[in-house]
Amino acid sequence: MSSCSGFSRRVSEPLTSAQTADLKVRLLALMAEIEHALDVSSDSERPVDLEAPIGRLSRIDAIQQQKMAKASRSRLQARLPALAAALNRIAEDTYGDCALCDDPIGYGRLTARPETPLCMPCQAERE
Ligand SMILES: [Zn+2]
Repeated sequence: MSSCSGFSRRVSEPLTSAQTADLKVRLLALMAEIEHALDVSSDSERPVDLEAPIGRLSRIDAIQQQKMAKASRSRLQARLPALAAALNRIAEDTYGDCALCDDPIGYGRLTARPETPLCMPCQAERE
């Protein structure tokens, strides 16, 4: 018994102009949100002061926390070019089509990750 039998690939519907407009709002909001977060977190990126009179453990803690802040910062930063590229695609009227196979990516997937340039099957193949 194969659980895969009967699976047929359903191509998503192309975006309506209202959906594109909605996703554009989301992209702009996300961009503003990330820029704000980067602004706020730049404060915590100051090097740990090794001369400061804190215990050894809390110093390790501080360094650890800083590493984590840095990691989440670069994750956020990495999203910005993708968001900008998505806004470009809206301007060029190619937004919502997969960059690899040209199928519509689908509104559902785009609401979850509006900057994605790939449809679900292409993304799955890449990973
Ligand atoms: Zn694709």
